[in-house]
Amino acid sequence: MTVCENIEKIKKEIPSSVKLLAVSKTKSIEMMEEAYKKGIRDFGENKVQEIMKKEESFHKDVRWHLIGNLQTNKVKYIVGKVYLIHSLSSIKLLRQIEKEFGKVDQIAKVLLQINIGREESKGGILLEELDLIINEVEECKFVKVNGIMVIIPKGDEDSNRQCFKKTKDVFDELKEKSFNNIEMEILSMGMTQDYKTAVEEGSNLIRVGEGIFGKRDYSIGGEKDE
Ligand SMILES: *Cc1c(COP(=O)(O)O)cnc(C)c1O
Repeated sequence: MTVCENIEKIKKEIPSSVKLLAVSKTKSIEMMEEAYKKGIRDFGENKVQEIMKKEESFHKDVRWHLIGNLQTNKVKYIVGKVYLIHSLSSIKLLRQIEKEFGKVDQIAKVLLQINIGREESKGGILLEELDLIINEVEECKFVKVNGIMVIIPKGDEDSNRQCFKKTKDVFDELKEKSFNNIEMEILSMGMTQDYKTAVEEGSNLIRVGEGIFGKRDYSIGGEKDE
């Protein structure tokens, strides 16, 4: 199937209220152009370097989403370039974002990345760390939290669903409370293998890579990072 056909298929499967983020990591500008022609304006990348390169040579009206692990020393490069950072995962990173965006008086929009499966190999905030980072967000001047992002552990449909449910509960709980600088609007969960389940469990933003662009080839350079 072509990129166009894939996008049509996915759009039919999800309600119009769910945003489709096209994850274009490792994929060429030419392939992204096909998605753009189908109306996609939100693109997800997991590497700062790749966003910077593509941003220069692609349409100016697209929104770039950083979905991968963000190192503190790279925050300065994305100021003014990225629409939404999905991967706020530590207080250290929060402080760096506050500092770099503050320098140019801009607001960073971020999602709290939750490590729902408590996997050591994955980034993200553990539930018991949530209060601490929220306290710190409330003190920020240049950071707004817009919701939650989750990458769930590999598993079958049942265990996926449990993880999504758990994340949705956290989302709803925070939504009911009132915090400075926190507005629970976006629930970023679901990828190629599990987006249907994620949407059933309340996701309103799915991040789809291979389901749109086909298999990724990491042998061309760049290492796997998930
Ligand atoms: C690569 C990636 C995706 C997309 O994964 P697919 O399986 O290709 O849909 C989604 N979210 C994150 C954080 C990723 O790194």
